[in-house]
Amino acid sequence: MRIFNFDHPGGVRLAHFPAQAPARLASAQRADPPGLRSMPPDLPICPTCLSELRDPSNRRYHYCFTNCAQCGPRFTIATAAPYDRARTTMAAFRMCAECQREFDTPGGRRFHALAACPQCGPSLFAVAPNGTRIETDDPVEEAARALLRGGIVALKGIGGFHLACDATSETNVQELRARKHHDEKPFAMMVSDVAQAKRLAFIGPEEERLLLSPERPVVIARRREPSPVAVAIAPHNPLLGLFVPYSALHHLLLDRVGRPLVMTSGNRSDEPMAYTNEEALTRLGGIADVLILHNREIVTRCDDSIARVVAGAPVVLRRSRGYAPRPVTLKRAVERPVLACGAVVANAFCLARGSDACLGPHMGNLDDLDTFTSYRETIDRLERFLGFEPEIVAHDLNPEYLATGYALSRAAAATIGVQHHHAHIASVMAEHGVEGPVIGVAYDGGGLGTDGTYWGGEVLVASYTSFERMATLRPIRLAGGELAIRQPWRTALAVVDDAFGGDAPLDSLAVFRNVSAEAIADVRESIASEHHAPPAHAAGRYFDAMGALGLGRHLASYEAQLALEWNAAAADDERGRYRYGICRSVQPWQVDLRPAVRDGVFELIGGESPPRVSARFHNTLAAATADLVRGVACIHGRLPVALSGGCFQHTRLVEGIVHELVPEFTMLLHATVPPGDGGIALGQAVVADAIVRAS
Ligand code: ZN
Ligand code: ZN
Ligand code: FE
Repeated sequence: MRIFNFDHPGGVRLAHFPAQAPARLASAQRADPPGLRSMPPDLPICPTCLSELRDPSNRRYHYCFTNCAQCGPRFTIATAAPYDRARTTMAAFRMCAECQREFDTPGGRRFHALAACPQCGPSLFAVAPNGTRIETDDPVEEAARALLRGGIVALKGIGGFHLACDATSETNVQELRARKHHDEKPFAMMVSDVAQAKRLAFIGPEEERLLLSPERPVVIARRREPSPVAVAIAPHNPLLGLFVPYSALHHLLLDRVGRPLVMTSGNRSDEPMAYTNEEALTRLGGIADVLILHNREIVTRCDDSIARVVAGAPVVLRRSRGYAPRPVTLKRAVERPVLACGAVVANAFCLARGSDACLGPHMGNLDDLDTFTSYRETIDRLERFLGFEPEIVAHDLNPEYLATGYALSRAAAATIGVQHHHAHIASVMAEHGVEGPVIGVAYDGGGLGTDGTYWGGEVLVASYTSFERMATLRPIRLAGGELAIRQPWRTALAVVDDAFGGDAPLDSLAVFRNVSAEAIADVRESIASEHHAPPAHAAGRYFDAMGALGLGRHLASYEAQLALEWNAAAADDERGRYRYGICRSVQPWQVDLRPAVRDGVFELIGGESPPRVSARFHNTLAAATADLVRGVACIHGRLPVALSGGCFQHTRLVEGIVHELVPEFTMLLHATVPPGDGGIALGQAVVADAIVRAS
């Protein structure tokens, strides 16, 4: 059995600080464009600097910009490449004699580092929401007092602003949610250390390793009950997102408040996170009671990364601060530089040159125009930093994605459209340096297929240059199109009507209780007439529908909310499953989940607990997937099986499939490249390169 994890060449070693010597990087050759490796990611404060920070006799006692050659920001404050103090926003601060001496001392901890001290470096200050300075010689104390009084504090961090409040206060967290217009999306929470994390959530050795890794991602773990933290942090959700301090400011603040803090990105609903002082004042002034700013400029916005343990191994779900822009090493170098533009939700782009493929920071949802502007600026900046001129531009097939429009607007020798699920599978192949072919299982919320319908329950036999669509899920109609994503009762109705042939027991299902008879009639009419009801083969939409049915809720406050909660609800020890069919007389084969939907609905009506029904539904899809894989293997041989797509962020489905197929098959699972659309640009890049090479 071979389950790939972090110990592969394309991955990132998480357990150690990279022994990066910035001084040596500074003298890199000037004639060639800077290598993609010349722009290191941001690092958390190191243990030595942390002890200086806490030592009253040290000249950097309580100084929030303490760092050395082994730690501190890099990518987010760089103004050009290669990375060097003179090419960061630290260049604005003239070193004092003592800092200069440390900077010039070979072998010292601050040799050619971002040296600074309270005498010469950046400083912190507190302002009121109207922009007036708050007179204090201790802004951290000001922030701590505001938090303990129940206030909301905006904090300028490494890659942008956070909004913080007391995580143990239901009122405060609800207030933050209301001011942020944040619906029910879970908030991340910063805890002082791993011990505190363990009191709040189930933290195993892998989660602990992730929490303490230099990337300091937000780690998703199951919440302990009863919990001292506010329910409003993650309403309806048994999972928590936890991370530990990574900057000096975080450490000092957590020391003073002595309790976990909500630490969510500083924005209103779907806008990009604020990262300049001006933006914070205009956009967060109405949310925060106090803003803690500083005068070191952030150049590149970089959101926190997110990771979790899936099937026993860590998986990065959002590859951003700490990871970006560190390249993934390609086993086969790209022939010509490729810019891959990504998809729409959780967008990240990719710049590939030689054997390096840099995934850019998390950009967010490109449907938002501010986010799209930030996307173009970030691509532009990174290209400038790296002297990168793409000759090939890769994009999704969906012409409605702004990223696709952007790709087509670029002047390049070749512009290549890559099918969404082909790109997903190629991303996991590239992460593992596998040439293929593989049996690729791509399950997600949907992406445009080559036949103009929405795919997302796909089993492909794929290499980099091409793929064959072997199997898919029976399509369901999304009445109202995008509306069905926010109103999963629409999908639930389509699924039960399909399963029961129009004789569905709607009156017995809680999900439909808050839906009017007219609305139900409208959806049925739209599906019957196939008007504004595109067919989707996406597994994620089945999870939405089952989540709505099982949880008895008709609306989602963000995309895939019910799918995510439905996954998290699954009972761990449940091995049962429902019936399903596979129709092999059509090409591609079609998985028929109607029997499973009927079984699940009858059990729910009979009073079976949602966690049991959820587990059985997941087990059913895992078993059907294994059947498909074995069927494909009969034709193409026992190829490695690659899993990619947003549905594989969820532990239950991955574990179910692994349980079915290991040790019979070699599995390729994501590790440091996100399974969701945040990793898709890597796949686009390698596919585009292979297509151009083959043509
Ligand atoms: Zn340090
Ligand atoms: Zn100094
Ligand atoms: Fe996708």
